[in-house]
Amino acid sequence: MSMEYRHVKIKDLKIGQNAPVRVESMLKEPLSAYNEALGQCKALQDAGCELLRVAFPHADLKGELSQLNIDLDIPVMADIHFDPDLAIAAIDAGCPAIRINPGNMPPFKLQKLIEVALERDIVIRVGANSGSINYRQLLEAQGDRALALVIAVEEQLNLLLKENFGRIILSAKSTDVKETVRANLMLSEKYPHFPLHIGITEAGPGMTGLVRSAAGIGLMLAQGVGNTIRVSLTDDPVAEVEAGYEILRSLGLREHGVHLISCPTCGRRRINVASIVERIKPFLKDFPDGLTVAVMGCEVNGPQEAKSADIGIAGSPSGMILFTKGHVVGECSLDEMPHKLVLLVESLKKNREID
Ligand code: SF4
Repeated sequence: MSMEYRHVKIKDLKIGQNAPVRVESMLKEPLSAYNEALGQCKALQDAGCELLRVAFPHADLKGELSQLNIDLDIPVMADIHFDPDLAIAAIDAGCPAIRINPGNMPPFKLQKLIEVALERDIVIRVGANSGSINYRQLLEAQGDRALALVIAVEEQLNLLLKENFGRIILSAKSTDVKETVRANLMLSEKYPHFPLHIGITEAGPGMTGLVRSAAGIGLMLAQGVGNTIRVSLTDDPVAEVEAGYEILRSLGLREHGVHLISCPTCGRRRINVASIVERIKPFLKDFPDGLTVAVMGCEVNGPQEAKSADIGIAGSPSGMILFTKGHVVGECSLDEMPHKLVLLVESLKKNREID
């Protein structure tokens, strides 16, 4: 088959090639609790989730999955284990993409799914994780688990390619950061024709999950590897999306939302930076994408340390100063501060200093 595929389109969402790195998450409510599930999906959509993976464990939930595809604007990727017939039911329910796990999808049963997927322009993600690896693959990889993950992915990939199916995303995840990075570097080198979904699986709760994910995803993205990401957290999935964009902003790959910087504070601080950051967060969502906002502890070093910021505040003897690009432009009290920041953004927009 032709190897021209470097991107896929899931509905209108382009993944790969020169498209921005996409941010994904997964519904954590069961589809059977439809209202709760829909509420979570809408919250994810509002947070900027671009592709939503949804577990589809049995065909009885086809009605709910179908309704979800109607109620959401973002595309849904059905997560299928063991049974290709379930994947076909998910496609019938309107899902434009399917994720299958090479570890539990019997190759001899794939034929019909591939036929339906070809006919309806469905994207299939071959998503392997540590649990997908079998003894034979591990033996073949001489105990190298990263290589075994690649083997698991490529065995299923080859089945799809044999049937001339090319709308494929590859994914290899492990809980081990270095193992995941190596596996993805190998996949990217060996199969540059297919977009890669990256992440660290079961990264854990809170700080642990965030740091593991940022280390792993960051290492891969910094080497140009990865077209779509999921930060997998034991947390509200909205936090996964926020963390995903934070990683992309940190690497200069996406401008979604405001880039917030704040100083760690030291003995010179004149304001409680942590509490002020919390206070201004609700206002930030209305600010333009890509705007850099700084909250700094003191006027002595704050404006200069944060001179890359479009707008900022710093503690001062009389309260706070406001600054743009390192230049002081006014003063305000704690209560006035959110409104003054809004006015500052409006004036920058008016003067076309920001979009
Ligand atoms: Fe310390 Fe001021 Fe720098 Fe914050 S901005 S770290 S308070 S010197």
